[in-house]
Amino acid sequence: MEEKQNYSEKPKKSQKKFKRSKSTKDPCPVCDENLYLDAEFTQRVGLLGDDDEVYGWMCPFCMSEFNLEGDITRLFRDGKIQGDA
Ligand SMILES: [Zn+2]
Repeated sequence: MEEKQNYSEKPKKSQKKFKRSKSTKDPCPVCDENLYLDAEFTQRVGLLGDDDEVYGWMCPFCMSEFNLEGDITRLFRDGKIQGDA
């Protein structure tokens, strides 16, 4: 049985993947972990709103959240705030 995967189709599950940037280096702006996964996707975790639309993404390493423009919307979601005050 052949299953043709159509990547241009809108995925219905909440496990959405984000297209990678061009280089294999794709560090998180907060924790600097490399979010590059493979030629197609990054390790970014999609954040879904009420209408099942992606409004941003989360770094799986430091749990910081970003909007689709890449601006930080929440730093260290699990409460771990690093500061050197
Ligand atoms: Zn991170």
